[in-house]
Amino acid sequence: MSIENDVDLKDQIRKAALLNAVSHEGKAQAGAMVGKILGERQDLRSKVKELSVAINAVVNEVNSLSLEEQKAIVEEKWPETQKKKEVEEKRLPPLPNADKYAQIVTRFSPNPDCVLHLGSARAILLSHEYARIYNGKFILRFEDTDPKIKRPSLKFYDSIKQDLKWLGCKIDEEYIQSDRLPIYYEYVERLIKDGNAYVCECLPEEFRKKTLAMQACPCRDLSANEHLNRWNQMLNGGYLEGQAVVRVKTDLDNPNPAIRDWPALRIIDTKKYPHPRVGSKYIVWPLYNLAAGLDDHLMGMTHIIRGKEHYTNMVRQKYMYKYLGWEYPEAIHYGRLKITGASLSKSKIVQGVKEGIYTGFDDPHLGTFLALKKRGITPEAIKKMIIDVGIKPNDVTLSWENLFSYNRKILDATSNRYFFVPEPVELKVIEVPKTFLPKLPLHPEKPERGYREYTVSPEGNEKAVTFWISKKDTGAMNNGDIVRLMELFNVKIESKIGNSATATFVSESYDDVRKIKVPLIQWIPKGNEFPCQVIMPDVSINEGFAESACKMLKADAIIQFERFGFARIDEINQKLVAYYTHK
Ligand SMILES: [Zn+2]
Repeated sequence: MSIENDVDLKDQIRKAALLNAVSHEGKAQAGAMVGKILGERQDLRSKVKELSVAINAVVNEVNSLSLEEQKAIVEEKWPETQKKKEVEEKRLPPLPNADKYAQIVTRFSPNPDCVLHLGSARAILLSHEYARIYNGKFILRFEDTDPKIKRPSLKFYDSIKQDLKWLGCKIDEEYIQSDRLPIYYEYVERLIKDGNAYVCECLPEEFRKKTLAMQACPCRDLSANEHLNRWNQMLNGGYLEGQAVVRVKTDLDNPNPAIRDWPALRIIDTKKYPHPRVGSKYIVWPLYNLAAGLDDHLMGMTHIIRGKEHYTNMVRQKYMYKYLGWEYPEAIHYGRLKITGASLSKSKIVQGVKEGIYTGFDDPHLGTFLALKKRGITPEAIKKMIIDVGIKPNDVTLSWENLFSYNRKILDATSNRYFFVPEPVELKVIEVPKTFLPKLPLHPEKPERGYREYTVSPEGNEKAVTFWISKKDTGAMNNGDIVRLMELFNVKIESKIGNSATATFVSESYDDVRKIKVPLIQWIPKGNEFPCQVIMPDVSINEGFAESACKMLKADAIIQFERFGFARIDEINQKLVAYYTHK
């Protein structure tokens, strides 16, 4: 059926255009819609042009309506879509020239020489999010072509995929550059044959002098045949490490000397530095710009979203694209995102783990995703923060506290509450008039979640009940002080001996003491304690008791210990082991 006569399709486009318009202040973006429609109608892939024409026509019509008129139509026809809009998160701006492409393709391309950390969050989450917004494709590409200095390691290929999965990213395609050397060689040969690349034998210092003077080195102008010979020699082991590099020609007077005739491939002695995947099979290895530049085209990348430190790389690669007759993808260069106090140097992380400075890649000191996960930072919080920061080219500095506040908003709603008593000491309360059966809500605003229930019954002539409370709370008490045991009753401190204290029962209602602002403290009836240790961000350990209801928790649960902070349950056996998240 032609697009002209497809009534269903026209309705679909009209709905998409109207929805798009009301979420973009009355102006639908045709580009965003092509990908969306194609995502739902794979059969139209071969008719992108026709589809674009049809969409443009509808968009023009829809955009001629006022925003109020558009909203009225949407609310009448598709009211269910609008309720969702109200709680919708902040959106990313549209991608440039999205309508030029049948399908949006983005990528994340790490070197598997370390686990991932917060420093990569922006590249990952923005690229992935855009691929999803446009019903496009998100590619994971391992850039593992430096077996010597930034040496990849097998374990990280896997951990990176796990990290991405944790972040909620779906990988549509995966490539490994060390599998692709023959492909790079083929294109290099073509560049050399066409006189657009050459094999340079100059010592680095000599070459540098020439480039700074905007002069050709002695190799540059030799015949293409001579360079093909040199190239074959490179491949066949005729040169040792450092004796030859392939350079891609640029303008020798490019204002940036670092761009002039940039190095594209070099020799690495893989007998000495075997690659973890392909061993000593190859000795000629591509440098970043050659491999990434070729792959971006060959993998159909439409939008490259990366830090602005890559701007000069784009300038370098555009020379190669011109020689090959290719069009450079849309490139978006965002500013640096710094997190104050986070050590995000991959080499320091790897070294520190090796030397035992860190307990592992999930050591709470680190900004790795593994560490954040262990501490109870949610991927949703990271994503929300990154999307709020957006793709602006200006530098942004965030603190841990910024990330925590995103996380806290999520955890406040989702975490159940419990008592944890660090450094427990005894509090004996006497003259307790009756048995109390406190019901402590798991969540103060969500009674449907249920309660923790305890029996507090007085014993002996003194009508006494003994509780565990924290040493810090006892330390702050003076004789005669009134204190409220949270959600239970009010007591008056009578005496303190050593670390323990005795108190008398005063009254049950919180209203009795609300006005005098008494301290509210957490407590555990003696006999209802469960040994617990909370590992803090500096790896110090807070030992104490959790209430016995915590025995029912499962590993990975994130809870709130009242008056202490959020924590993620790591292990639960004879005792509870938790990692501190934040206040
Ligand atoms: Zn040279």
